[in-house]
Amino acid sequence: MNDTMNLSPLETCVKLPLCFKELEEVTDKAKDWLLMHGACMRCREHLDKDEVRFAPFVLLPSAFPRKEFEKARKVQTILNELTHQVAHDHNFITETLKSTVEVDDFTARLFGIYETVHAEGFKQSISLGLLRSDYLLHNLHETNIMQVEMNTIASSFAGIATTITHYHRYILKELECEDKLKNIPENHALSGLCEGLIEAWKLYNNKRAVILFIIEDTTINICDQRFHEFLIREKNSSIKVIRKSLGQVASEAHLNQNQDLIVGNSTVAVVYFRSGYEPAQYPTEHEWSARLMIERSSAIKCPSIQYHLAGTKKVQQALAVKGTIEKYFKDRSIVEKIRTVFTGLYSLDFDENGEGEKAVTMALKEPGRFVLKPQREGGGNNIYGEDVFTQLKAMRDSKERTAWILMDRIHPPLQENYLIRPGNTDELKTQNLVSELGIYGVILGDSNEVKINKQVGHVLRTKPASSDEGGIVAGAGALDSPYLV
Ligand code: ADP
Ligand code: MG
Ligand code: MG
Repeated sequence: MNDTMNLSPLETCVKLPLCFKELEEVTDKAKDWLLMHGACMRCREHLDKDEVRFAPFVLLPSAFPRKEFEKARKVQTILNELTHQVAHDHNFITETLKSTVEVDDFTARLFGIYETVHAEGFKQSISLGLLRSDYLLHNLHETNIMQVEMNTIASSFAGIATTITHYHRYILKELECEDKLKNIPENHALSGLCEGLIEAWKLYNNKRAVILFIIEDTTINICDQRFHEFLIREKNSSIKVIRKSLGQVASEAHLNQNQDLIVGNSTVAVVYFRSGYEPAQYPTEHEWSARLMIERSSAIKCPSIQYHLAGTKKVQQALAVKGTIEKYFKDRSIVEKIRTVFTGLYSLDFDENGEGEKAVTMALKEPGRFVLKPQREGGGNNIYGEDVFTQLKAMRDSKERTAWILMDRIHPPLQENYLIRPGNTDELKTQNLVSELGIYGVILGDSNEVKINKQVGHVLRTKPASSDEGGIVAGAGALDSPYLV
């Protein structure tokens, strides 16, 4: 249980609770709608390749302030560019991650690959970023979006999120609220990300080359990934997508004399990582050798190793240090736009100015005000509440603390809704939920030129207010759409 001090609740789009009979009827329809439109996932507990279940979802779209939604959309291309510039700033990446790589093996391995390909000279100068910047609303004086993080690798759910937007339009019609449809914004996330992959494929300029998705040994989020694959084929009938795990790449792929990545008889134009962001996805040296081979290749990577590192929590914290964004943007109004979505982020380094020590003291005094974050992705890794105290106290004098960053805890407003999961036979009741908005961005280019920089769509992920984290694949979260108010 967390200690959120959620302030003013947001008003729901439909008066709740629904009467029992209507709720029962509409829930049944909703589940079938999701099943029939592929808003589904494999089930971790009964893993069977031939079976999917509907993804956890909320029955009604959740209210979200229009002004803040627009703000998040508008700032996306600026954040895309910031990520792109950081990824190409060798000194900044090296300096920022210096203390972290001394203690965090996973980041150190990634950084090692980066140093290797940087020293050799990048065979492919172009990177593709399919990014997702995530926000929670925070009640300061009024409700504001605050960035939770920027994802540069495996930014998922664009496929299912697009479908959920259609679902929420359907359900509002079903509840005879057609007048409310105008408050559900259009969502072209899937199409936008696929166009990014297709544009990268075109730049590679080999009509016979394929797009390689790097996948886990078992893919829970299969429909989301397949939506991308199928839409790519629909938009451009020449493009074949192949799927391989890092282990399979290690044994089946090689680099030819030109450092082209060859899998079977195919040259790979674009590598799209939907795996490779957490240590468990590199169980042996084979997976690491595959990652290095890919980074050395002429394929366009999504993300390239430098983009991957630009998405670490440590880089996010360093960007919040005064003077950093100013290095990348001379225009003060742009700097201001970025700053308004940043919340307090603090280094835990043993630095000369004692900033790290100050942050530790501050968090030990009021641990509930902060979240402690390691350099990990995929949810379930952060520390909250009293555990912040325990963990920080235990590592106060140890170098280990520099593998973490400290962040102000954001307190999103509560909202009632019905959260529906497959297999849950309990009577449906409204719950207090909180929502996290993700905005997708596409950026394509190299250090000299940005060829594409766009905001392409969104996802809303909603979780019980009582749970600290809301990963959908990991557990507590559910798919949602914003209902703009
Ligand atoms: P990951 O890369 O693992 O997704 P996140 O930074 O997104 O890491 O953290 C995971 C989840 O933890 C978020 O989706 C959010 O629910 C919660 N969380 C993260 N940072 C904060 C914060 N500063 N305040 C409140 N909740 C947070
Ligand atoms: Mg992340
Ligand atoms: Mg996250």
